[in-house]
Amino acid sequence: MIIFAGQNSFMTYKELEFRVIDAISGLYGQNEARSVQRFLFACFSGFDPAGYLLKRNEEADEDFENKIILAIPRLIEFEPVQYITGKTWFCGTELSVRPGVLIPRPETENLVMKIVEKHKSREGISILDIGTGSGAIAISLYLLIGTARIEAIDISEVALSIAKENADENRAVVGFSQIDILDRKASEKLPFFNVIVSNPPYIRQSEKSLMKRNVLDFEPETALFVENSDPLIYYRAIAGFALSHLEPGGELWFEINESEGENLQILLKNLGFRHIEIIPDLNSKPRYAFAQIQ
Ligand code: GLN
Repeated sequence: MIIFAGQNSFMTYKELEFRVIDAISGLYGQNEARSVQRFLFACFSGFDPAGYLLKRNEEADEDFENKIILAIPRLIEFEPVQYITGKTWFCGTELSVRPGVLIPRPETENLVMKIVEKHKSREGISILDIGTGSGAIAISLYLLIGTARIEAIDISEVALSIAKENADENRAVVGFSQIDILDRKASEKLPFFNVIVSNPPYIRQSEKSLMKRNVLDFEPETALFVENSDPLIYYRAIAGFALSHLEPGGELWFEINESEGENLQILLKNLGFRHIEIIPDLNSKPRYAFAQIQ
């Protein structure tokens, strides 16, 4: 219920939809405004899509209406809708996200699916996710590969607490530890793995000018950016670590900056990796890397 000049005005769900879209379509564009509105409504209403269609012309629940009205100024400030609702979906799994962890992206789902396709029927595979953030990769791999043993590390205590919450919520068994992968001494004590996967920070500082406010003003810098002078800093550290922590024939999988494919290929080759592949994403941009040790 919203009060205008002392008069009670009740809105239907449909009227509330238009209210959101009118408020943000000038800033987001019509299509994105629509998808942001749908995401917001799906999270806050808890209705399934078919159930929602039946209710659209009914008067909106007061609590729901208040949540939507409070969300509008935040959307106008470009706060990501996933932080406003506190959740997102990744590989079919609901995850909590808050400032302090990157909102997992669809291109990373694709990386997970490539690993799942290759290993879904392999018994007892061990996997390490480096820079786990919300836990998206580690939790999905646990849920999609029946018998995997999964560990995940991150430098950030906040990220690890959100990742643990997500693992518990989804009954995923993942061992989490706080380790900075650039600190060789700290990572040395980890055991051997069959697969090491990472989506480390890879956006150069110089690319900031191309990025949108919803990312720049709200998502964690440390999860996204690297210095222009050494954009592969995390890849070098992770590949070096992988040389001493992969089982024979073990695999390294990365998400990458589309402009670093060739440099990463050279780096992995010089370290002695084999079967190196730079793999395109759904937009045909080089987005993933694969490599194996002897
Ligand atoms: N793909 C993410 C983005 O475009 C970046 C992820 C990363 O830096 N690892 O915002």
